[in-house]
Amino acid sequence: MDRKLKVGFFSFTCCEGCMINVIEVFNEKFFEWKDKISIEYFRALKKVKPIRKMDVAFVEGAVSTKSEIRKLEKIRANATKVIAIGSGAINGWPSDLRNSFKGVQKKEAEILRQRLGQIEKVLPIKKVIKIDDEVAGCPINSDIFVLKMSELIEGRR
Ligand code: SF4
Repeated sequence: MDRKLKVGFFSFTCCEGCMINVIEVFNEKFFEWKDKISIEYFRALKKVKPIRKMDVAFVEGAVSTKSEIRKLEKIRANATKVIAIGSGAINGWPSDLRNSFKGVQKKEAEILRQRLGQIEKVLPIKKVIKIDDEVAGCPINSDIFVLKMSELIEGRR
């Protein structure tokens, strides 16, 4: 690949622990990757700017509000590939814990849900948009993340 791979990192409803792993990987891989990738979006590392075209969007967390759905759709429209990172993005857990509440617990959670303007069920991102790949784990397996990033940089995926 003769130009930098444009990547974005986005967090939705979650503990943001997967992005901590990503930052640790970047610390290790900085000199190897610095001329090969351009980090366009990463709230923990740089000022947030409007979403524009990128090669790959990495998304962690589940979706719990309508504004998150709109943002996710915007990411999908601007990214050639979307990769779900972490179990929250892939299958909802543990961000979707309230989906299984019953009885009093459900009633209490419902009050908060309405107050916070959240949607009825917390959703994994692949229930909202098409994804191209995923990195499993809670938090993600860093070795798999490194492997996928290396393949993307080499233009093999
Ligand atoms: S998958 Fe686990 S570690 Fe990663 S953001 Fe979600 S809750 Fe945190």
